[in-house]
Amino acid sequence: MAKKQFKAESKRLLDLMINSIYTHKEIFLREIISNASDAIDKLCYLSLTDEGVGMHRGDFRIRVKADREARTITVSDNGVGMTKEEMESNLGVIARSGSFQFKNDMGAQAEDKADIDIIGQFGVGFYSAFMVADKVTVISKKYGEETACRWESSGTDGYTVTDCEKESVGTDVIMHLKADTDDEQYGEYLQPWKLQELVKKYSDYVRWPIVMDVERFEEKETGEVDDEGKPKKEFVSVTEEKTVNTMVPIWQRSKQDVSDDDCKAFYKEKFHDGEDPLAVVRVNAEGTVSYKAMLFVPGRAPYDYYTRDYQPGLQLYSSGVMIMDKCADLLPDCFRFVRGVVDSPDLSLNISREILQHDRQLKVIAGNIEKKIKAELTKLMEDKEKYAKFWKAFGMQIKYGVVADYGMKKDFLEDLLVFPNSFGSELMSLAEYKEKMPESQKVIYYAAADSAERAASLPQTEQVRDAGFGLLYLTDDVDEFVMQILGSYAEKRFCNVSADDLQLETDLEKADTEKKAEENKDLLAFVKETLGDEVADVRLSHKLKSHPVCLTTEGEITLEVEKYFRSLPGADTHNLKAQKVLELNGGHPAFAALQKAFAEDKDRAARLSRILLAQAKLIADIPLDDPSAYAELVCGLF
Ligand code: ADP
Repeated sequence: MAKKQFKAESKRLLDLMINSIYTHKEIFLREIISNASDAIDKLCYLSLTDEGVGMHRGDFRIRVKADREARTITVSDNGVGMTKEEMESNLGVIARSGSFQFKNDMGAQAEDKADIDIIGQFGVGFYSAFMVADKVTVISKKYGEETACRWESSGTDGYTVTDCEKESVGTDVIMHLKADTDDEQYGEYLQPWKLQELVKKYSDYVRWPIVMDVERFEEKETGEVDDEGKPKKEFVSVTEEKTVNTMVPIWQRSKQDVSDDDCKAFYKEKFHDGEDPLAVVRVNAEGTVSYKAMLFVPGRAPYDYYTRDYQPGLQLYSSGVMIMDKCADLLPDCFRFVRGVVDSPDLSLNISREILQHDRQLKVIAGNIEKKIKAELTKLMEDKEKYAKFWKAFGMQIKYGVVADYGMKKDFLEDLLVFPNSFGSELMSLAEYKEKMPESQKVIYYAAADSAERAASLPQTEQVRDAGFGLLYLTDDVDEFVMQILGSYAEKRFCNVSADDLQLETDLEKADTEKKAEENKDLLAFVKETLGDEVADVRLSHKLKSHPVCLTTEGEITLEVEKYFRSLPGADTHNLKAQKVLELNGGHPAFAALQKAFAEDKDRAARLSRILLAQAKLIADIPLDDPSAYAELVCGLF
């Protein structure tokens, strides 16, 4: 019979498995058992609503059997099974979960290194059988189908699928072990004690019984008597079926019995992440609603996290039976990066998605979980390094959370925000900033730009720093919206150095600036007229120290907000322009030069006005409409 070919990427993965130098080949059993368990989950779920299944929870099991003569290990389940088409499509493509990263890694790394990384990082699933077997046969009968099918492959040269006989619904995966070599004793996996050890090690928490025939020796009377007339006894081997795993899911076990490492290993395997989670939250709630939860804050954002493809949600169980893979109603949007499981005996098993949404108990659990996650993140803030990692991956999500729904959750989330700042390289929370505020400081200063360095170099920040006050640096598009929604923190108003009154002047200084403005009234009007509708106003500034100019704004739309709107594709930016104010430093030599030109040579004064505006724009990181015109203006001074 003609062999069918694997898809190219599957072939590559298969190749890696066959020639694997990976040292943990033994994980193949975990992978195959985990597939069997998933298949049983599916049929068990069906049995809740479909009486035709004819099975009860207690009937499901996974059987592991070794045949020393034939050198085979067989893992059988009475789960949902596969049709011929499913076998072809499921066993002929690489695990979806890992495929994207797999392709990425392949491009970026040396071939042999990629080999180890991929296997270490992902549940590569079914293919891992080829690490220990040179031929794999899968016999499966799907629930509801009359006929069974047999899939067989000896590796990369392809596979065959044929009809066959199988009495009951479910799947047998038969692995024909490779011959032993000097380095690898594959035959060891045929030893019952070894198989038991592997089940215990990797699959102990699988919810379904994993049974094996276990041989034990028993003393029995032979029916004869010895010289003293006592009945003769001998040891006879008795083989009996034994459940090898404890079946208690990890989240059901008491906290003392599960180490941090156990939780991390569980997370990595269950959610196909190669990296340890940053935090683990365990909840054991008893009261109006009882539930257990094990939640994880991942160490990095999945590649599709900030796209529409990402599906948030927690896995929902009712007394150990999975009822929903991704229950989004359990997670508030601001924490949609959290992964994990929730298990509650109080939820009805055959609950539908629509009913679930209105389920009161579910709402209670969701509210509770939200608080727990926040508490855990607050705790995580104590570890600056870890929180910085978290912030890099999911900080944007928290910021969106503050802004969403007109700031409905702003009070809940504000303490989780952190920003770059003028105090040092570490991110700082609003509470930490407040802590550092001297008595005399009235507002929380911030400067917005593309990077912390740029924000720090804005002329307007100088006066704040000189006054001995610190600044937060806002570098994300969404930041200014966050500040606008928050308005204040712990009764301290936010002050944008590019838009608001810095409140640093003494009355004397203010009077002085006003006097100077009055004296230069005509000059300021001239500059404004020269610049036309490019600026809403021209003023003498008290914000500047060593710089000659800066650009500030009036009204709701700040420079950063304008920049953000400008970056949106197809945005009508005409009405979304910031009201720009050109502020001039009256004490700067540049202003003296402007005054002189205004008195002696109006053309030169107009030229200087335009140059000063262009400079202010450049400092604020606003592109010039016509850079060559600016260059000409400057050259004209020589
Ligand atoms: P993953 O489990 O990550 O999806 P696998 O390569 O382990 O990837 O398995 C691919 C698919 O093959 C599974 O998702 C499932 O649909 C199917 N499959 C594997 N083993 C079984 C089984 N014992 N019973 C039913 N379906 C199975």
